[in-house]
Amino acid sequence: MLGNIFIISAASGTGKTTLVSRLLQKHPDIRASVSHTTRLPREGEENGRHYHFVSIPEFEAMIGDAGFLEYARVYDNYYGTSMRQLEELTRQGVDVILEIDVQGAAQVRQALPQAASIFIAPPSFAVLESRLRGRGTDAPEVIAKRLVEARNEIEQAPLFDYLVVNDDLDNAEAALLNIIRAKRFLSSAQEKTLHSLLAETR
Ligand code: 5GP
Repeated sequence: MLGNIFIISAASGTGKTTLVSRLLQKHPDIRASVSHTTRLPREGEENGRHYHFVSIPEFEAMIGDAGFLEYARVYDNYYGTSMRQLEELTRQGVDVILEIDVQGAAQVRQALPQAASIFIAPPSFAVLESRLRGRGTDAPEVIAKRLVEARNEIEQAPLFDYLVVNDDLDNAEAALLNIIRAKRFLSSAQEKTLHSLLAETR
């Protein structure tokens, strides 16, 4: 059986990466697609594990070869989901998370209507603002830019199938896992089982 595809997007600073890495650590049958990006690796990031780090010409060549299911420019860098890699993962039967921005989410919803989309939201905009300021790592103008972007991202939330508010990491993680697991119980995903049950009743 092919694995299901889950698009996960959020407003910057909502804890999406933490939530996804918690799920991946605990559940080997849930995997994340490793995106391609033209941004430089941050400390501790490995090529092939966190991202495939490529040059702008390499990325543009992949666009030309129709190698991306979706791609977008986020914070002045390109990010994209490789079609081939996604197909390989779903063929293995694992559930695949695409941790992508709202522009990419819109493209995947069009291309793969069977994918489930999940938006992770902060409990309120005020909480998000204080989280971003509280990090203490970014300059005020960077924070101001992120807040404008976060507002635009939150405006897209109604377009997603599911909404998970991250007020508590454990609760939000459990909600994500429930959504992912529930898709496996759709009767349309269990045609073989239904078929043999029905055959017995004849
Ligand atoms: P970061 O540079 O912090 O790792 O990611 C910046 C943003 O790019 C995040 O919102 C992340 O979800 C998004 N992103 C990462 N990979 C992809 C991708 O393959 N496609 C799209 N559209 N966005 C991505």
